[in-house]
Amino acid sequence: MFLNLAEVATALNLKTTTLPQTDLTQVTFDSRQVLPGALFVPLVAQRDGHDFVTAAFKQGAQATLWQADHPLPPSADDRYLVVPDTLEALQKLSAYYLQKIQPQVVAITGSNGKTTTKDMTAAILAQKYRVVKTQANFNNEIGVPITILAMQADTQILVVEMGMDHAGQLTQLSALAHPDVAVITMIGEAHIEFFGTRAKIADAKMEIVKFLKPQGVLIFNGDEPLLQDRAAALKQKTLTFGRQTTNTLFAKQIQAQKDSSLFTTNIWPQQQFTLPLIGDYNVDNALAALLVGQHYGVTPAAMQQALAHFKPTKNRTQWLTAANGAQLLSDVYNANPTAMVDVISNFSRVPTTGRRILVLGDMLELGPQTAKWHAQLASVIDPHKIAAVYLYGDLMAALQAALVSKLPVYYFPTAQQEQLIAQLQQDVLPSDLVLLKASNGLHLERVVQALMDS
Ligand code: ATP
Ligand code: MG
Repeated sequence: MFLNLAEVATALNLKTTTLPQTDLTQVTFDSRQVLPGALFVPLVAQRDGHDFVTAAFKQGAQATLWQADHPLPPSADDRYLVVPDTLEALQKLSAYYLQKIQPQVVAITGSNGKTTTKDMTAAILAQKYRVVKTQANFNNEIGVPITILAMQADTQILVVEMGMDHAGQLTQLSALAHPDVAVITMIGEAHIEFFGTRAKIADAKMEIVKFLKPQGVLIFNGDEPLLQDRAAALKQKTLTFGRQTTNTLFAKQIQAQKDSSLFTTNIWPQQQFTLPLIGDYNVDNALAALLVGQHYGVTPAAMQQALAHFKPTKNRTQWLTAANGAQLLSDVYNANPTAMVDVISNFSRVPTTGRRILVLGDMLELGPQTAKWHAQLASVIDPHKIAAVYLYGDLMAALQAALVSKLPVYYFPTAQQEQLIAQLQQDVLPSDLVLLKASNGLHLERVVQALMDS
């Protein structure tokens, strides 16, 4: 790091004089990850970080913050920096560090696709710049300052994921990061049970521009009218991506292959992009990342390379082989209407001489429109492409009703996972392709495992 304890004291208005001027190696709140020379930040959460201060020092921490409402241990010395609130201090320190390093800041939010877009954006920008990005999914009021404090002296661009589950949160995160570029991937239905309407979700996402620099740019999904409306009032420049040809950047000729997507774009018609991911929504995510890359002058050829070799933090969609040889496309950790539609239509286009079978489970947390979102999936299930549908979960009853006259449908309420497994074990042929997708809470991974085991 490019930060020493004397600066920490200045940033936090602490009156200490004897602090060493050696640079810190890291700022961390996790005692297990403390490296020699670190500043430890004990946060007060379910576990109180102050209980781990001794452990942090054993691992070689240079100093620790200490929240004033906790009695100092008798052994406390100069290495204990007492602050009113350790989380606030962490945030203040990150603000100081951001000022010092002065990187360009790209902030990414959206209901879905944040992590994927963040990783694609960082991969593209890394073709030309020294980039630091959010690790994993570390996207809240702790993760954002930690990401800022992970920069090196020579970091040029910081790519930060910003999550939110309540109004006001993105205002706070935007204030911490002061983005030069803000990206909104899409507005979905995540947390709608809490927000009530998609319009309110859109308002909350737009908070990301509260502290967008005056010369900054907002890049957003232009297929979403709720964002179009809100972005129209913005003083800063805006760019859009999506599927409609009215967007600044849109994809043409998307070819869904078994493990990858190929596409061209309106802006670089000669350049074919290859993405080692399936699902058209991932092409949307890539378009957002391409616009950021273009903004920073990365060439289309370099961007093509970055996407072609893209490795997602965690690829949720994977091909597996069942015990009898059937090919399983497992995507069992997340389901929302957009991703469900895209994955079904991509899967329907995967070439095969055998049958294509769907095993679809409930999409959770969609609020009052739940039945409608489930029933609407019927419109993308093409009986010429799909041989049979297995529906699992109480909410899928709505889709069953919409499908019965179209093709063979087998329905299993949530309590009947065993019966679903038995039915699939009986019905699935070695030559079949089977898509399995549901919200995490349905535990469809157990069905996948059962098919792989026997
Ligand atoms: P989290 O809120 O957990 O941080 P996230 O917004 O970071 O999620 P990702 O981790 O990138 O999202 O993707 C999670 C899942 O969301 C994917 O597996 C896919 O099913 C779905 N998804 C990804 N991108 C999109 C998109 N642009 N539109 C709709 N669904 C998407
Ligand atoms: Mg994420």
